[in-house]
Amino acid sequence: MSGVRVRFAPSPTGALHIGGVRTALYNFLLARKLKGTMILRIEDTDQSRYVAGAEDYILRSLKWVGIKIDEGIDVGGPHAPYRQSERKEIYKKYATQLIEAGHAYYAFDTETELNAMRDRLKASGSDSLQYDAASRQDMRNSLTLKEEETRQLIEAGNYVIRLKVPDNEEIHLVDLIRGEVLVNSSQVDDKVLMKSDGMPTYHLANVVDDYLMKISHVIRGEEWLPSAPLHVLLYKFLGWEKEMPQFAHLPLLLKPDGNGKLSKRAADQMGFPIFPLSWQDPETQELAKGFRESGYLPEALINFLAFLGWNPGTTQELFSIDELIEAFSLDRIGKAGAKFDIQKAKWYNEQYLRAKSDQELAAYLQDDVRKENMECTPAKAELISAAMRDRITFPNDLWEKGKFFFVAPISYDEKSLLKNGMKKVKTY
Ligand code: GLU
Repeated sequence: MSGVRVRFAPSPTGALHIGGVRTALYNFLLARKLKGTMILRIEDTDQSRYVAGAEDYILRSLKWVGIKIDEGIDVGGPHAPYRQSERKEIYKKYATQLIEAGHAYYAFDTETELNAMRDRLKASGSDSLQYDAASRQDMRNSLTLKEEETRQLIEAGNYVIRLKVPDNEEIHLVDLIRGEVLVNSSQVDDKVLMKSDGMPTYHLANVVDDYLMKISHVIRGEEWLPSAPLHVLLYKFLGWEKEMPQFAHLPLLLKPDGNGKLSKRAADQMGFPIFPLSWQDPETQELAKGFRESGYLPEALINFLAFLGWNPGTTQELFSIDELIEAFSLDRIGKAGAKFDIQKAKWYNEQYLRAKSDQELAAYLQDDVRKENMECTPAKAELISAAMRDRITFPNDLWEKGKFFFVAPISYDEKSLLKNGMKKVKTY
């Protein structure tokens, strides 16, 4: 094993979006390519967004597409536990360390006080409504209150811990895909690191775990790029600058026409899945059909997803997972958003499906024949499969488009048949 350690770190807030599968795939491809380790960490510190069944769904989805986890929930490993809700004490220790070093502080403001602060800033015409170097001075926190009062409030237990972001400093990071990123610290607010329920926020837990789990590359969606400068500050304040992982923020997935982000709503409207497997929302009971249940083959989906943001630099389009591992590199990932061209996904499915033998296709057909309470000999099923193979996109097209081999039509348009040269015969 090399020192390359990557992680897929989903939050169990519902079904895994197809974009999450692409993130997991790119992490997996890099890990395999560089003989590294693929880690699965569950980021479940936001209890209010926790959805029962989501963690199990993530595991089943990764298994279905063939992304194997080397360390993480389910399989364990030297850095267990891999579920953040079980690592509370660890984060507390580092939050305390930040306070002691003067990089974080306790804040006691109520929701009303925070709203009043924002109203005040708005009224004064300020560009920023942040809790930051300027506004923190007018708030109730351990930097403004007397020691005794601070102590009492901490004992009462109703506080958060905020990062003390320095005023007007350049934060610099190099992203392997975006290049140089430079942000002024005055654009970063004093983010909450520990919440009043004793749980860390995403930012603290994510950085602490990436450090402790010795992550070498953080490969994640572009929506996390705005958080990266804050993470860089955390690495610095915790004294881990030298061990900071390399960042690679993946391009957004766009709707098929390139207009806007790919969302569940957009996918619903256009009639294609957005989740790898079917998912029933435990709250609304709404059932969303997955790629698997819609007839996509995992190898076709993986091949399609690999090309959403990455390309091999050649004209080859069909890649087995081993070929993808061989060809993959982070420097061939582009910055531009990737259109989720569902027609291309179907094309991939056709290629993989039609490459199957008549016997394999016949097995799909037999499943559907049985569901219809009919029977078919293996020889007949293979003959039909051979005849239909060039017309199918999904396995159930064998039945849907080849039904006439089993069931005589119950109605037909007599006029058009006659026009097309069919002779009227006498029926008895
Ligand atoms: N828990 C974050 C998510 O749900 C992970 C972001 C990251 O990879 O840092 O996407």
